[in-house]
Amino acid sequence: MTKITSIRTRVWHWTGPTVPPRGNFCTNASDALYEKGDAMSSFRFHQWLTVEVECDDGTVGIGNAALAPTVVKKAIDDWYAPLVIGEDPFDYAYIWEKMYRRTHAWGRKGIGMTAISAIDIAIWDAMGKLTGKPVFKLLGGRTKEKIPVYYSKLYARDIAAMQAEAEEAMTHGYTAYKSRFGYGPKDGMPGMRENLKRVEALREVIGWDNDLMLECYMGWTLDYAKRMLPKLAKYEPRWLEEPVIADDVAGYAELNAMNIVPISGGEHEFSVMGCADLLRRGAVSVLQYDTNRVGGITAAQKINAIAEAFQVPVIPHAGQMHNYHLSMANANCPIAEYFPVFDVEVGNELFYYIFEGDPEAKDGFLQLDDDMPGLGISISDRHLHNFRIEE
Ligand SMILES: [Mg+2]
Repeated sequence: MTKITSIRTRVWHWTGPTVPPRGNFCTNASDALYEKGDAMSSFRFHQWLTVEVECDDGTVGIGNAALAPTVVKKAIDDWYAPLVIGEDPFDYAYIWEKMYRRTHAWGRKGIGMTAISAIDIAIWDAMGKLTGKPVFKLLGGRTKEKIPVYYSKLYARDIAAMQAEAEEAMTHGYTAYKSRFGYGPKDGMPGMRENLKRVEALREVIGWDNDLMLECYMGWTLDYAKRMLPKLAKYEPRWLEEPVIADDVAGYAELNAMNIVPISGGEHEFSVMGCADLLRRGAVSVLQYDTNRVGGITAAQKINAIAEAFQVPVIPHAGQMHNYHLSMANANCPIAEYFPVFDVEVGNELFYYIFEGDPEAKDGFLQLDDDMPGLGISISDRHLHNFRIEE
């Protein structure tokens, strides 16, 4: 029997160069408030948590969390690590339930579930390393020759710059592109027109044989989204992502039932039951849970089964290896989100600077190694000079 002997948590504070802020490049939930300071501050995050689960034979599994990392670190150190140390990583379902049920009064969602997710991901990495198998081989194996990915960037800015970015991206052979809206309810009709102009401009560049996805990041209201949907239909978006705040599940269901543009979401939902509720209520046509928030790989696999029964495709939020392994192992995950390697801007990019091993997309696909045990990432020392590390 293997035993987990310690859990090490570290917060990585990026102190290196960043792309300077440039206005409202993506609508977000804070847009509903009057402006005081930087409206994008809740959107940007330049810290990341790594969680290393060490076993008695020296094997170390790596997990991570990007949501409120300093607080998640504290939750793991004080509450979750003592529940996990001494357990056998192969009892992962028991460990998950133990973490979930012992902290049920406060841990079911938010910080608590993020902590559970990070530990669970690390346990799966450890199980892969202990068995000498890549994680996707433990989850069901290879369902695809390679994983199709979509280019996820195209933040709102002036039209020429967005078109230039799309043109450049097309030279890398992607067949799907996701763009962010920059205008929402407070910008009125002129903002609506600005949004539509950008969608049209992107269609001009990528043509009509490539997929276009549109992202609101919870920056619209139900009323605004209802007015926008008919105007967007002619651009044939593959989906409209997170039009309203995550708690407005009824709003998602109403928009999705309009059947004009498929509605996607779920990256801010927590747990198996939270995602099951989205599916039961018909709130999304594409489910985009975030493995880092939803309860890790253990919960994600259960959600995959439920989504398959509803025939709703799952496209996990964000790049990252834990998502790629899930996408590889599930036939119902048709494509993966892919953040191109880029200078540090929003914060999404940080995992390229903390870890080594994330695959780079080629011609619109990425590949996982059949023989690389675990998730296939390691903690890098290449950029240590650009981080302040909090143990
Ligand atoms: Mg999103």
